[in-house]
Amino acid sequence: MHMTAQICQDDLPKGRDIVIVGAGAYGLSAAWFLSQAIGGEHVLVLDSSDFAGNGTGRCIGGFRTQWGHESNIRMSMESVRFFEKAAEILDYPEGIDIKQKGYLLLAWDEATMDRFRGIQDIQHQLGVQSQLLTPDDVAKLSPPVNQDGLRGAAFCERDGTISPFRLLDALLTAVRREGADVRYGTQVRSLHNKGRGFIVQTTSGDVRAKQVLVCTDWAAPVLMKTLGIQLPVEMLPVEIMVSEPTKPLLGPVHISMKHDMAINQMVRGSVVINHGRPRPRQENIAVRPDWIRHAARGAQEVSRALADLNILRAWAGMISITPDMQPILDEMEIPGLYTAVSAYKGLMNSPAAGRYMADLMLGRAKEDPLTPFVSLSRLKSGNLVREPMTNGARLDD
Ligand SMILES: Cc1cc2nc3c(=O)[nH]c(=O)nc-3n(C[C@H](O)[C@H](O)[C@H](O)COP(=O)(O)OP(=O)(O)OC[C@H]3O[C@@H](n4cnc5c(N)ncnc54)[C@H](O)[C@@H]3O)c2cc1C
Repeated sequence: MHMTAQICQDDLPKGRDIVIVGAGAYGLSAAWFLSQAIGGEHVLVLDSSDFAGNGTGRCIGGFRTQWGHESNIRMSMESVRFFEKAAEILDYPEGIDIKQKGYLLLAWDEATMDRFRGIQDIQHQLGVQSQLLTPDDVAKLSPPVNQDGLRGAAFCERDGTISPFRLLDALLTAVRREGADVRYGTQVRSLHNKGRGFIVQTTSGDVRAKQVLVCTDWAAPVLMKTLGIQLPVEMLPVEIMVSEPTKPLLGPVHISMKHDMAINQMVRGSVVINHGRPRPRQENIAVRPDWIRHAARGAQEVSRALADLNILRAWAGMISITPDMQPILDEMEIPGLYTAVSAYKGLMNSPAAGRYMADLMLGRAKEDPLTPFVSLSRLKSGNLVREPMTNGARLDD
C-alpha cells in the first residue's frame, strides 16, 4: 500500500465552504460524497492525529448486514455495495482487501436463537440473504467451533471484512484527487458561530466555513461544548488483540453474542480477537493487564483451535456510546453545524453515513428513510431505536 497521508506544512486556507473535522471513515466518506456532489475544492478536512490515528485505525474491519432494525440493514446494505465496488468507485486498483466469507453468529442458548429467528423476515424483505444453521451445519462450515452447548447460528455469506487502512487510503487518495484539502496534525480547538457561518479555531490558525461537520466520533461533545451544545455521547474503551499469521483456521468472522466477541482471521493469516466487557466509561485508552487472559479464555470457549495462537500485541480504542447505540447523523440547533457520530459499527456503515451527511448538508435528505432513525429528535422524544442485534452488555454496563 502506498501511504499518501502526510502532515502538510502549507498554511491553512483562510476559508472553505465546508470544513469537516476528523479524517476517519466517517469524515473521509462524507468528504468523498460532498466532493462528488459539489467539487472537492469546497471541502477542507482537518484531523489532529496522523493517518488512521483513531477508531478506524484500531478496529477489526468487520461488516455485516445481519441486523434486526431496518435502519441498520439499510445502512449496511448500502455500505456493502460500496465496499464491493470501492476499488472501481474510488479508482484504487489495490483494492480494500475485501473478504466475503460471511459472518457466523453463534448461539449458545435458545433465547439467542429466537432473536435470530425473529429478524429473518425483515432481513429477507430488505435483501439480506441470511440463513439459520443447525449445530451440524456449523460443524460443516467451521469445524473448529466448539459444539458443546451450541444451539445453532445465523449466517450470511455476503458479510465479511475490509482493511480499514486501505479504505482510508483509498478515500484519502480519491478526495485529494477531487481537489479536497486534507490536513493531518491539525487540531480543532473550538468552533465559533459568526453571522451565517463559523470560525474554526485550530492549532494552525483560524478557518472560516459556511458549514461545519464534526466527525470526531466519541470526541464530538468536546467541540459541541465550545458552542454551548450538549451532545448525548459517551465513550467506552474496547480491547482487541492480534496473533501471528497462522494456517487457515477460520473462514467467516465468528461472533459469539454470549461472549461479546468477534474473531476474524485476516486475509494474511493473523487472527484478530475483539472481546468486549464492561469497563468504566470515559476511562483512558489502555489494555488492562488482565484482559489478554480474559479474552484468551473466552476465545477458547468458542474454539479450542485458538489455544495455540501466538499473540503479537493488544491495543484498545474508544467507541462512542449513544443512548440507543445508534448513530447520530444530524444538523445541530445552530444551522450549518452538523455531526455524525457512529455509536460503534462505524466502519461498516461509513459509506452510508457519509452519503447521508452529504445529502443532509445539501438539503437532499428530507425523504430519506434513514432520517427518523438517525436524527437527534428521536432521542429528544424518547423514540429510541431498538436494535435486537446490538450487544446488550454495551448498553447496560
Ligand atoms: C477495538 C475496536 C474494534 C472495532 N471493530 C469494528 C468493526 O469490526 N466494524 C465496525 O464497523 N466498527 C468497528 N469498531 C468501531 C469503529 O472503529 C468506529 O465506529 C469508527 O471507526 C468510527 O469512525 P469515525 O470516522 O467516526 O471515527 P475515527 O476513526 O475515530 O475518526 C475521528 C477522527 O477525528 C479526529 N479528531 C478528534 N478530535 C479532533 C479535533 N478536536 N480536531 C481534529 N481532529 C480531531 C481523530 O484524530 C480521528 O482521526 C471498532 C472499534 C474498536 C475500538
